[in-house]
Amino acid sequence: MQVYRLNALFDNYIFLLYDSTTQTAAVVDPAEAEPVLLKLAELGAELVAIFNTHHHGDHVGGNSRLLKRFPQAVVYGGDEDRGRIPGQQVFLQEGDRVEFAGRTAEVLFVPGHTRAHIAYYFPPFNPDQVGELFCGDTLFAGGCGRLFEGTPKQMVNSLGKIRALPDQTRIWCAHEYTLNNLQFALTVDGHNVDLQTRFAQVKTARQQQEATVPSILGVEKQTNPFLRWDQSALQSAAKSQDPVQTFARIRGMKDQF
Ligand code: ZN
Ligand code: FE
Repeated sequence: MQVYRLNALFDNYIFLLYDSTTQTAAVVDPAEAEPVLLKLAELGAELVAIFNTHHHGDHVGGNSRLLKRFPQAVVYGGDEDRGRIPGQQVFLQEGDRVEFAGRTAEVLFVPGHTRAHIAYYFPPFNPDQVGELFCGDTLFAGGCGRLFEGTPKQMVNSLGKIRALPDQTRIWCAHEYTLNNLQFALTVDGHNVDLQTRFAQVKTARQQQEATVPSILGVEKQTNPFLRWDQSALQSAAKSQDPVQTFARIRGMKDQF
């Protein structure tokens, strides 16, 4: 399974999963149809699945047009998103499994950004590979999604599920927000040397218009303030020793940043 990252809208990423042996493809969160149709044509691939993480327009905006061109494609999304995702046929819950290209992904229920948000985790296929997590707007490189429909407690629980995955896991998040996220991170975790190093790397990458997605979970654990609610630096920035309150206050500060 090959993963292609496609640019969409202003700062969205769409991920196209391609199986060269069957020349079939699946797409994660098609913000719009055009870049997906172009890539499918280039590969000569047939679209068989749309994996949506949540109902926001910049994640499902391409569903209908893709279905017109590939009516047999199956649309997957969260059970609690029933009625909010165009063309949805499969309603997924925590622990459900979906298949593509001989790989099986596990569904994580990760409410917080929205009340119905899910993520798709493909564990390593063999020992020399890494797992792939498609997490929509839950975890970002250096940040996390805003809480539109969920509570801080739900989001900490959701991010906790992600944090428990293997460190080598690649994080395919849906937006290029990394530079701004790390600028904020430095305001609450400024003595973190790993964070300082990462910021410098990301700054250079963005100056050269390179993408910073996917990132690696182990790097997120060391540098992303929204996975560090139990670190003393973040707790003192938040003036709290409670993990959920620490997360909530840091999230509130980011909302104002
Ligand atoms: Zn969203
Ligand atoms: Fe989004």
